[in-house]
Amino acid sequence: MSTSLVAPVTPEALLRAPKVLLHDHLDGGLRPATVIDLAEASGYRDLPTTDADALGAWFRESADSGSLVRYLETFAHTCGVLQDEAALVRVAAECAEDLAADGVVYAEVRYAPELCTEKGLGLDAIVEAVQAGFREGEARAAAAGRTIRIGTLLCAMRQNARSLEIAELAVRYRDSGVVGFDIAGPEAGFPPTRNLDAFEYLRQQNAHFTIHAGEAFGLPSIWEALQHCGAERLGHGVRIVDDIKVAEDGTVQLGRLASYVRDRRIPLEMCPSSNVQTGAAPSIGEHPIGLLARLRFRVTVNTDNRLMSGCSMTSEMRALVDEFDFGWADLQRFTVNAMKSAFIGFDERLAIIEDVVKPGYAALMAP
Ligand SMILES: [Zn+2]
Repeated sequence: MSTSLVAPVTPEALLRAPKVLLHDHLDGGLRPATVIDLAEASGYRDLPTTDADALGAWFRESADSGSLVRYLETFAHTCGVLQDEAALVRVAAECAEDLAADGVVYAEVRYAPELCTEKGLGLDAIVEAVQAGFREGEARAAAAGRTIRIGTLLCAMRQNARSLEIAELAVRYRDSGVVGFDIAGPEAGFPPTRNLDAFEYLRQQNAHFTIHAGEAFGLPSIWEALQHCGAERLGHGVRIVDDIKVAEDGTVQLGRLASYVRDRRIPLEMCPSSNVQTGAAPSIGEHPIGLLARLRFRVTVNTDNRLMSGCSMTSEMRALVDEFDFGWADLQRFTVNAMKSAFIGFDERLAIIEDVVKPGYAALMAP
């Protein structure tokens, strides 16, 4: 089909396009007004401002510093107000509603339960509250005419030593909508191999996991995540470009690790705006996603932290369309890539691809 026979990618059409999101942090996606409400209700006094617009701007600016460490500091506030069950239910429900309003039909949303225990909540109570919130949000979205399904990933923090406990928690709730596990937090100095017992346990349990790797740190981190830990997907993985040589004449040569990632169809959970904010990419236009998509790596598009980046799936896709001239076929490919790489069952993934994603894009592409 020639491009002239395909409807243009407009912002309105992008919003309606069915989207699949694999990498989104619950504690990075709160509504600013909700942060303020929850702070007031819980007696949290450390917010820089109690004006919702100003607070939203503060999060984006703080996250813009170019340092992953400072970026992660903004989470002190969001986690600070996520210390009771009512707050967790509310934030999870609003997350599902916001994603549905953004055209997301399937999302895997992650968070670290160990960051919600400051006031004594137990890990099981935390997971049950978040699951209740997601079900509530899915129901509210359905009442508004939007179908969304949320799967949960539980994160362990690299700098703590609780990964086996959190992996066990994920397996305990696998039949209640927890579909996988991840490790997050500062990469440098905390290699994923510190958590080998957790990954061995998960493999023994036939459970799924992804690992944040190749964001702040380079190829060794990606190699360890895949070859020592057995990650099925890579959180970010942008630094895989360090193993790809592009000659002046445009000839491309993949190193052995980059070849492995492409050959094995290992999903890359790419988060363009977040990567620019943390300095993992100089700009959206220079983000490796352009090259990696062209080389047919299994690229997926993600938000990471909607509050800190002031972004949505629609705005991320729009930025990529603007910078790389991607069309509907590319956006559909990223979406199908993501759905193929989800941690729910094969039959369920196939149903969403065939019944929701493909018909949705076909309708949008029709001139
Ligand atoms: Zn992340």
